[in-house]
Amino acid sequence: MNRKEMLYEGKAKKVYATDDPEILLVDYKDDATAFNGQKKGTIAGKGAINNRVTNFMMRLLEKEGVPTHFVKEISDRETLVKKVSIIPLEVIIRNISAGSFAKHYGVEEGIVFPEPTIEFSYKNDELGDPLINEYHAFALGLASKEEIAEIKRLAFKVNDVMKAYFKSLNVDLVDFKLEFGRLSDGSVVLADEISPDTCRFWDSETHEKLDKDRFRRDLGNVEDAYEEMMKRIFGK
Ligand code: ADP
Ligand code: UDP
Repeated sequence: MNRKEMLYEGKAKKVYATDDPEILLVDYKDDATAFNGQKKGTIAGKGAINNRVTNFMMRLLEKEGVPTHFVKEISDRETLVKKVSIIPLEVIIRNISAGSFAKHYGVEEGIVFPEPTIEFSYKNDELGDPLINEYHAFALGLASKEEIAEIKRLAFKVNDVMKAYFKSLNVDLVDFKLEFGRLSDGSVVLADEISPDTCRFWDSETHEKLDKDRFRRDLGNVEDAYEEMMKRIFGK
């Protein structure tokens, strides 16, 4: 499949057209941003790690019955995906308090919830991705009620699968962000990425952070954290 014109360059990935109008090529970059693009940097090797980790997770989720955009990994950093129209909602699932949840409600990080929570942000960089509820998402025409119900069902399913998988690697899945899109037939599938950029991973014993918080919070050993996750998943 030939890579054609670049359609979009985001903060972490470039998206290209291909010979097939239904298929896109995603190219993962080492660039890292935080706080809505205010903090910028690079994390050496991140693009290749996020590509491989995302594809591993997408394959695992497909096996467990979650439809995804994944088609084929074609190199270290490049993957073919089904083109979707992205539903502009960041879907966030939390198992343990951290980040904006802890800040919002004035609680410490690390509270294990009795059951997972879900929230949505309106994916809009100019507005700073504000929190949005289902009624407002529907009012704004971002998604139908059926789509919102399907997104919630799939997001909790993704959590069940990922939480159990990461526990087997001695990693607690604290929280993560998902994006969903519509295929040309209107069906909803999981899109974008699942990686240390978009998940919080804590070592189950030491509680060491193995994700992008090391970059956001200047904790050091950022590359090591990404490589450690890679090692636990792929065993090297
Ligand atoms: P951002 O736009 O937040 O800077 P990225 O750098 O990750 O993010 O850019 C990738 C873009 O591609 C995102 O806007 C994401 O929503 C979009 N995207 C992810 N998967 C697909 C897909 N299968 N089809 C179309 N767009 C997608
Ligand atoms: N997240 C993300 N992209 C965003 C916002 C959040 O991938 O634009 C992920 C983040 O990595 C974390 C989870 O979603 O795993 C919850 O993030 P939170 O709301 O706590 O925000 P943050 O602390 O990143 O501001």
